[in-house]
Amino acid sequence: MTQALLELRAVSRAYRMASDRADGAGGSAWTTALHAIDLDIRAGEMVAIIGHSGSGKTTLLNLLGCLDRPTGGTYRIGGRDTRLLDADALAALRRDTFGFVFQRYDLLPALTALENVEMPAVYAGVKADVRRERACHLLRRFGLGPRLGHFPSQLSGGQQQRVSIARALINGGSVILADEPTGALDRASHEEVLAHLRALHREGHTIVIVTHDPAVAAVAERVVELRDGRVVSDRRVTGERATGSARVEASRPARGDAAAALQRLRVSLAMAWRAMLSHRLRAVLTMLGIVMGIAAVILVTGLGEGAKRRVVDDLRAFGAHTVDVYPGKDWNDDDAAGRRALGESDLPLLAIQPYTDSISPVVAGSAAVRVGSRTVRVTLSGVGAQYFRASGAAMSAGTAFSASDVFRQAQVIIIDATLARRLFGPERDPIGETVLVDQVPCRVIGVARTRKALFAPEPAPEAWLPYTTQMYRFQARDYFDAIKIRLKPGQGAWPPRDLERILTRLHGRKDFFVMVSDHFVKKVEATARTLTLLVSGVAVIALVVGGVGVMNIMLVAVSERTREIGIRMALGARRSDIQQQFLIEAVLLCMTGALAGVAFAWCVGMVIGWMQSEISMVFSPWAIAGACGTAIAVGIGFGYVPARNAARLVPVVALARG
Ligand code: ADP
Ligand code: MG
Repeated sequence: MTQALLELRAVSRAYRMASDRADGAGGSAWTTALHAIDLDIRAGEMVAIIGHSGSGKTTLLNLLGCLDRPTGGTYRIGGRDTRLLDADALAALRRDTFGFVFQRYDLLPALTALENVEMPAVYAGVKADVRRERACHLLRRFGLGPRLGHFPSQLSGGQQQRVSIARALINGGSVILADEPTGALDRASHEEVLAHLRALHREGHTIVIVTHDPAVAAVAERVVELRDGRVVSDRRVTGERATGSARVEASRPARGDAAAALQRLRVSLAMAWRAMLSHRLRAVLTMLGIVMGIAAVILVTGLGEGAKRRVVDDLRAFGAHTVDVYPGKDWNDDDAAGRRALGESDLPLLAIQPYTDSISPVVAGSAAVRVGSRTVRVTLSGVGAQYFRASGAAMSAGTAFSASDVFRQAQVIIIDATLARRLFGPERDPIGETVLVDQVPCRVIGVARTRKALFAPEPAPEAWLPYTTQMYRFQARDYFDAIKIRLKPGQGAWPPRDLERILTRLHGRKDFFVMVSDHFVKKVEATARTLTLLVSGVAVIALVVGGVGVMNIMLVAVSERTREIGIRMALGARRSDIQQQFLIEAVLLCMTGALAGVAFAWCVGMVIGWMQSEISMVFSPWAIAGACGTAIAVGIGFGYVPARNAARLVPVVALARG
């Protein structure tokens, strides 16, 4: 005598009923659906389990299929005690050994016939082309060749049941468990389904049919009758004997490798996408928080970066890496002697330092400049021959001062474009013209570009004289207001420190101070960073609110789709598969929201770009990558609990709902 394939010993199943007694004394009561069942089912048998409604047939079948666990007794499958198996091992059994055929077909409505049949093979890690071919073959066998791409709602009951039989066979299905498989079918479909089951029996499949219909039971070779949870008869009828050798397919180890996991991920992603599309409005509303949060971050960082670049560009134009030396201890030093600290004698030593690119004194002043009847008050600075190079200011016409202009205290002047326009109008060329600077005639030799700072109104007009002219002809003084030095790029040492040292030694004391333009750049950068941080804080709140929305909707989805979860578990989904499915849905929601947020921010950035030209938005790939990363994190963070709830469902409980 061969060992039984399925072996029940004193198996019982009791349900705990929540007590409605308010005093709580009863706690909970138990109802027993199955009492100490002993049953052996051998490989290749076709067994019908009959009994009245409520006699425990479904309960028994669920135990046989490992959708549920007995509350007493032992159940062995191929000699293995199921009590020793964990949830994933039971899932593996459902996947590889059992095939379920339910009364209500229980196909996944969002998947086509073909995809429904493929589902258990996906969980088993069968390669896509192999499982597709196998599924096509099975569906054709059951006469559904032309219906591969149909959705369950487009199929008749009989067709759906045949799809579900094909699904039961995709991983081999050595034991087919059918619960009232023809209960919802018309006569013709009923006969057809029974014929298919009989044929499978002949091929060696073990078949257990639960039914209340004696006519269905008549196709079996053995009939087990249940009454009130007990076996009341177990008789062999003259049925067809299995002619094929009884086939017990040892459960194939599922492909556990990375490729299989990746493939499950791909299928999950496709299903998540469809789940999202089937609830578009809900998805959009759920995403809104994420969209706003991400868009806010991208916009603020983008605009902040744009503003920063603009400011930095401005500063570069005003002199990249320039050092300004001022007299006195600091800006607030009013000491008269201190103001005279810098003079002509400082220039030669500073000019010969290896890091000095160009150097120019600055002697500040102002004057009235007149041409004919037009008089304009200007900021008038006395500067050296290298001033325009040192300050990074560009000439738009004419030339800068020459060394000889400086030496001769020449009466030449350089004006900026604003002043040129005011004095000469747009038509006249100022070069070579003579203007009166506080009554002193000077010849215009150059026009400098107007330097407009960010957001500043049009600046006051400016003009420059050779510093010698300014000092000796106009002001009668011998000290500078500043010395501007442009540094050569790529200097290893920190030149400002060295300059400080040299000048201190020269003067015998430190009666000056040094300002480096880089400091301004750093300050602007720091300000932009602070701003970004601040708005990011606000965005994080938006994201959290969005995340809570996602979590809420995922909890709803899990409870709406409890039955689907049960079906997936019956098809052999591991807990991790279920968890992954819902996590991916949450992440997909967040990712789509994030991408919509990026797109939205981009549109707003374009509009801002059209409206003004001061700042352009900077779209860094980092911001977009960050947005996607954040979305994934939010999806996982807030999707975790709903997904875990789904994965922890007991298959039979999930199936019973919905
Ligand atoms: P059948 O399939 O033969 O109609 P079932 O196996 O569904 O019978 O049910 C057997 C008994 O167990 C019934 O009395 C039913 O009320 C009870 N039962 C089934 N499922 C549950 C459950 N989840 N909780 C409590 N009682 C249950
Ligand atoms: Mg039932």
